[in-house]
Amino acid sequence: MPKFYITTAIDYSNGDPHLGHALEKVGADCIARYRRLRGDDVHFLMGMDEHSQAVLQAAEQNGVTPREWVDRMATTFESYWQRLECSNDDWIRTTESRHYRTVTALLEQVARRSPDDLFVGEYEGLYCFGCEEFKQPSQIVNGHCIEHPTLELVPTKERNHFFRLSRYRDQLLALIRSGEFRVEPAIRRNEIVRLLEGGLQDISISRNRQSWGIPFPGDTGQTVYVWFDALINYLSATDYPDPGYERLWPADLHVVGKGITRFHCVIWPAMLLSAGVALPREVWAHGYVQWEGAKMSKSAGTAVSLGEAIDRHGPDALRYFLLREVGFEADGNFTWERFDERYTADLADGLGNLASRSLAMVAKYRQGIVPDAPPDTMLDQAGLQAVDAYTRAMDSVDLRGGAEAAWTLVGTANLYIQQVAPWALAKSGKEAELDAALAALGRALYRLAVLAAPFIPGKAQLLWQSLGLPGDALFGTSVNLTAPPVAGLATNKPEVLFPKPQTV
Ligand SMILES: [Zn+2]
Repeated sequence: MPKFYITTAIDYSNGDPHLGHALEKVGADCIARYRRLRGDDVHFLMGMDEHSQAVLQAAEQNGVTPREWVDRMATTFESYWQRLECSNDDWIRTTESRHYRTVTALLEQVARRSPDDLFVGEYEGLYCFGCEEFKQPSQIVNGHCIEHPTLELVPTKERNHFFRLSRYRDQLLALIRSGEFRVEPAIRRNEIVRLLEGGLQDISISRNRQSWGIPFPGDTGQTVYVWFDALINYLSATDYPDPGYERLWPADLHVVGKGITRFHCVIWPAMLLSAGVALPREVWAHGYVQWEGAKMSKSAGTAVSLGEAIDRHGPDALRYFLLREVGFEADGNFTWERFDERYTADLADGLGNLASRSLAMVAKYRQGIVPDAPPDTMLDQAGLQAVDAYTRAMDSVDLRGGAEAAWTLVGTANLYIQQVAPWALAKSGKEAELDAALAALGRALYRLAVLAAPFIPGKAQLLWQSLGLPGDALFGTSVNLTAPPVAGLATNKPEVLFPKPQTV
């Protein structure tokens, strides 16, 4: 079983999660679930970034200690991810002792292996507390950070520890161009290549006398810079530097937002090169969820309540909508109207209606037992094509393409019912043809339960069980998409998968 170590970005503990966070987590979860289905030994990591200065401010504003604040935020985030059915195997928080240990070990390893990479210097520049980084002129528009147009940039000058990032430019360019270190999608790779071609500046990796953070090894007056600290979480979760950390490391896929590619595709691999640790294989940078054309974020005041979005049609519907309509590559729009349209067309009238009609006919005409008939219908052909297209898309992290392939089969199957008209076959006593149609529909539902599972795990499970199949088999490798073994299954009447809302 090939191992597949997948991570999401860890989130700042300074406010409740919104749809932008949710897109990343359900996208990564969809990939993790698909990989498990393929038979990979998946390890899926999520977590929290808890050392930002924004934590101190938020704790102060809310009259609690920073520790109490991050504990509260971690509970909030985790409960949302559980509601959205995230199947992460581990949950890391950068305030945990395992993380302190790895951050210290990695910095000590850099100092041992590449002593020239660390030096002390003075830094002066404009600092964005939203990003927790000094901003270059190219990152400033109208006097504000591009990512945080409502925050003031703060002129800052201090003596810090620096990392000789500039030294790694040529090596990183070569690794990215050769594909040894993959940056996807191509638009993000091109941005990073241009950035590298423009040259790199050395970066400050500590902050002066901050009470909240990891002490810099060998200099207790300094704290490890929160970004330098945060990136290392992916390694902390492997128990680096313990022998055996390579059971998980290198990460196979870091899923991050497009706004933090410089950290993940330049600084992080340079840190690892400096320490002599293997690089992650791939970084996937998704786009943003836009709300009426603007980036959704708390500081921009455009956040839609995540709880409201989940409550509208349930967690599976939100997962489906984010991955199918908003997408996991470029920016995409979220509107209630589109959400409702997709819910009705694709889920209630599409998959839900297909399942209830098909199972009702198996119940009515064959006492709930799926008949045995050869897989030679046009629906079986369409099923095999859907599996092919789905696999090709999902293997290249084209989640929208994967959903499209599955829901194309939904459309074909609903059309098949109309064309074949099983009720007419029953009426005219064409028993063999009726068997063929009901068996074909059984195989289509089997395939759809499997293909849809990474997107809508809860409802796919219900569909699977209503086919009379054992619950956990859906998520194992024993599924057979080439020749779904449905003959003789005792189906049961499913609960309505996607109820029609009262007011849409
Ligand atoms: Zn910013």
